[in-house]
Order: sequence, then structure tokens, then C-alpha cells
Amino acid sequence: MISNQDLFHVHTFRCGHAEEVPDRAYIEKALELGAKGIWFTDHCPFPGDHFMRAHRMLYSDLPEYVDTLKKLKKEYTGRIEVHIGLETEYFIKYDEMGYYKELRENNDIEMLLLGQHMAELPDGRYSYDLGKEELIEREYKLLGEEMILGIQSGYFNAVAHPDRIFRKRRVWDDEMNAMAINIIHYAKLAGIPLEQNESSKATPNYYRDEFWRLAEGKADIIRGLDAHFLREIKLI
Ligand SMILES: [Zn+2]
Ligand SMILES: [Zn+2]
Repeated sequence: MISNQDLFHVHTFRCGHAEEVPDRAYIEKALELGAKGIWFTDHCPFPGDHFMRAHRMLYSDLPEYVDTLKKLKKEYTGRIEVHIGLETEYFIKYDEMGYYKELRENNDIEMLLLGQHMAELPDGRYSYDLGKEELIEREYKLLGEEMILGIQSGYFNAVAHPDRIFRKRRVWDDEMNAMAINIIHYAKLAGIPLEQNESSKATPNYYRDEFWRLAEGKADIIRGLDAHFLREIKLI
């Protein structure tokens, strides 16, 4: 459903770390470039707003986000397709609360993009609470395992930057290879595409050729911008 003439994976000012421009500015830029569609996937909030304000919109912002994009979708009909989505981590805790089901049941939200930026720990903390050494050792395993649960949950339409979980590892080893193969396998099984992320390419060690060599021909691959600034809007 994502065409290669679409601009996929665009954030908005609401997440706290993107350019302070109205959503319309991204659409106008996309039109200028001759794109067929634009997919907004801003960072999804969680009830209770446990996570840092600088990382995502507030839970109370969500209705406004959807409403604003709905109006723009209508306004731009016939010129460009405006799609409404959210990028979110998968957390067992919020699944048990019924949150993903609730998001899925919202007919205005067309796309849930699985972006596993952190993982839950059994003691209720999150992976970012671990020390530096432990993160080097375990981050990709924790994120990879939870990402696979997300893929299997059936709530998601695509996986954002799956290779980014390996960012803290310099040398590609057998265990990382096994994790990559698992992610690719379960994505294929679930019939959802894996995203090659333009923003990852700009950060050392975020984009892993080792991963994409394994995925080639084994899973569906899409390309996403992960745009947080107008200047990152481009056809790829
Ligand atoms: Zn972001
Ligand atoms: Zn993103």
C-alpha cells in the first residue's frame, strides 16, 4: 500500500524534536516534489505519558494530531494522498492494557509503524536505564526480542529501521546474525515490510549492510525518510 512515489515516515513538531513548522509545510514540499502520497508517522504517545516529553507528543495531543491531518487529507484530496499513521514501540504492558487494540480500532489511523527504540525490562524499567556496558552487550537482544513480539502481535503494518537495534555493536557477530535472521523471518511470516531508513544512513553504525544483505529477497523492503525537518523531505 506504500507506493515508491510516496514519501514515507514523516514526523511533526508535536514530538518535541522536530522542526516547528505546520504539518501543511511537509505536504506542500511533497507536492512540489511530485510525490503521490505522504505518510505521517509521528511518535505515538502512551496513556500516562511515562516517556520523556522530548521524545513524543503528549497523550492529550493525539486527538488534535489525528483531527488536523484528517482536515488536511480532505483539503488536499485529488492533489496528494495524505496518510495518517503513528510510529510506536511495542510494549507487552501496553498491549495487555489494550492500547494497541484501541489504536487499531481507530479508523482514522491508517498505519502503525513499529519503531522499537527501547525495550521493557522485567523489573518495570526500560532498556535506557541500563549502564553503558550492559547496553553494548544486551540492547539489541532486548529490542530485537520485543520487536519480534510486536511483529507477531498483528497490530503493525511495517517495521521502522529494524537494523538500528545493532547500533551499539561495532563488529557483526554470529549472535547478531541469528537475531537479524529471526527478525527477517517473522516479518516475512507476518507479511509486513522492513524499512530501510534514510535517517539511519546519516548516523554512523545505524544502517547495517550486514542486515540488509540477509533481508534481500527474503522480506519485503520499503524505504522511509524518518523526516523531522523540512529539508529531509525528498524522493528516494
Ligand atoms: Zn523522532
Ligand atoms: Zn521515526
